[in-house]
Amino acid sequence: MANNVQLEVKNLKKYFQVPAGYLHAVDGVSFTIDAGKTLGVVGESGCGKSTLGRAVLGLNEATDGQVLFEGKDITHARGNLKKDMKKEMQIIFQDPYSSLDSRMSVQQLIAEPLKINKITHGKEETEKKVKELMDIVGLASRFRLSYPHELDGGRRQRIGIARALSVEPKFIVCDEPVSALDVSIQAQILNLMMDLQEERGLTYIFITHNLSVVKHISDEIMVMYSGAMVEKCSCDELFENPLHPYTKGLLSAIPIPSIHVERNRIHMEGEVTSPINPKPGCRFASRCPYATERCYSEMPETREIKSGHFVACHNLEAM
Ligand code: SF4
Repeated sequence: MANNVQLEVKNLKKYFQVPAGYLHAVDGVSFTIDAGKTLGVVGESGCGKSTLGRAVLGLNEATDGQVLFEGKDITHARGNLKKDMKKEMQIIFQDPYSSLDSRMSVQQLIAEPLKINKITHGKEETEKKVKELMDIVGLASRFRLSYPHELDGGRRQRIGIARALSVEPKFIVCDEPVSALDVSIQAQILNLMMDLQEERGLTYIFITHNLSVVKHISDEIMVMYSGAMVEKCSCDELFENPLHPYTKGLLSAIPIPSIHVERNRIHMEGEVTSPINPKPGCRFASRCPYATERCYSEMPETREIKSGHFVACHNLEAM
């Protein structure tokens, strides 16, 4: 493992038991992230990207595979290791409104993790730290006694970020953190997150269905389809040289802000394969124009097509 790799995920699986069998939400995903970098995870709703983020943090116990943080196996962390990991690794949720207790003021919400994790001692020290965190995330101190319902979505998300930062983590899973916000506020929150990353050397997994957002913030991007990773490479490489047919379809759907340019949109037809007891073979086969007989019987292995560019497809050479 290279020295700057902070997180290594090996063949991670998360299955949920459902009445019809097992839902393969995450099915054999492997990747690494270097310290201080952002891995964007994209894919359609239900592709398993949020479950992946939660499984990395241990919020959903992995069915199989391994998660290593700074070389330590934290897949099934218990006791002191679990406690330590809660400080090192945090999460920011999509909808801060439902993740914040509506009966608590901003002051109380930000003070809560400080008290639980014994970061501050006594009222005075806690209030001072809350004020400092509010400053860091750009929340004016006049909102100290406000309640979540009195604030707009951007300010609520700033509370979520302050809570995550309170324990001084190294790593944050950002689960669709700007999806519920107005476009103008999205940019403010993204810029705040990028500034914090630079100042504190934070590592992010940034989960989103929005390719424009992920392009803005990511160093590398991983594309997921039906629980599996189909492509991973640097952000520039993905937008310049997408190789997997699903990635090409996703990119072709990004609107171009000009009436003079028309994008050649690739329509992905066919039914989405159910992740419940999935059949053998490539999960994308039912929608793929390049599918051959082999695609319906054999799951494609992830291959490094060129340095740092990984793709899971049998037929790249034929495209
Ligand atoms: Fe298409 Fe086959 Fe490649 Fe899957 S493995 S993306 S079905 S060509």
